[in-house]
Amino acid sequence: MTSDIRTLAKKVSGGDRRALARAITLIESTRSDHREQAVELLECLPPGGSATVRLGITGIPGAGKSTFIEAFGLYLTGLGHRVAVLAIDPSSPRSGGSILGDKTRMEELSRHPDSFIRPSPSGGTLGGVARRTREALQVCEAAGFDVVIVETVGVGQSETAVFEMVDMFLLLLVPGGGDDLQGIKKGVVELADLLLINKTDGDLVAAALRAERDYASALHLLVPLHPGWTPPVIKVSALEGRGMDEVWAAVEAYRAALGPEALATKRASQSVSWMWRAIEGELMDRFKAHPAIAPRLSEQETLVAQGKSSPTLAAGELIKLFFAQGPS
Ligand code: GDP
Repeated sequence: MTSDIRTLAKKVSGGDRRALARAITLIESTRSDHREQAVELLECLPPGGSATVRLGITGIPGAGKSTFIEAFGLYLTGLGHRVAVLAIDPSSPRSGGSILGDKTRMEELSRHPDSFIRPSPSGGTLGGVARRTREALQVCEAAGFDVVIVETVGVGQSETAVFEMVDMFLLLLVPGGGDDLQGIKKGVVELADLLLINKTDGDLVAAALRAERDYASALHLLVPLHPGWTPPVIKVSALEGRGMDEVWAAVEAYRAALGPEALATKRASQSVSWMWRAIEGELMDRFKAHPAIAPRLSEQETLVAQGKSSPTLAAGELIKLFFAQGPS
């Protein structure tokens, strides 16, 4: 353990925001020496403990996630909480620009002394971005942020990754005309512990009431994720800052319904899932980078694509080669 890392860990635990930002930069780095330091750092930080609240939030682009997080975050800082916001946006490498990364988002919250906002690291696979976000969550908790909100866009695979790192998963919806199970996949609704109908203001109030009724009846058909908890549907207006107290009351009610033991069990099983994700990620990285495998990957891909080799045969040959050479 280097003394630099120990000093950094101490500063982070003392709530030093610049140290926190540096720690997260270290976590996000892909350099192997930084990676080793990041692992050391995580080892010497204290665990967050059950008093911290980990919330995930998803919704289609334009649903009002950043407006909501700004309003909700400011409400929570008003209650004396320290709020960290992290984002998972694996779309950035493909689209060339991050959906979540634009700098004008959450302006007031980002200036608040009791908040910390970190956009998604740009580039990388979902697995990599998710792992870094989960580690950043741990560092934020060690730095004394007692509410951590992880945001993602409800259009990909990233919800599952967020679901596996938070205590409670919130789905932000907008009232639409008629077909209200809009854009959002049914699978995402099934993950939600709380549904929020945003934009309940102005001309949208009547549509919000309809959406509330539709979702409430749809939710009754689902098998509850936790016994004793039926996900409530709450109407809010992020723009007008209305409904934030109800949302926080629902978060507290959920935690009370679960109780500390079930929460600990949930977090423990999430940790096990993350161990497996880490193993899968590491094995895959090593496999692809192996000097005996790397030069043959595109050749095998082409043979499979042209129908000259079967997927099973090609996979089998590469894996055999990997183990015959011994993982490097
Ligand atoms: P995100 O893409 O989900 O982060 O959505 P944004 O927070 O950027 O909001 C998208 C648009 O919806 C912006 O023009 C917001 O001003 C607007 N918006 C967000 N919340 C509300 C709300 O509660 N009521 C109304 N009327 N508009 C909202």
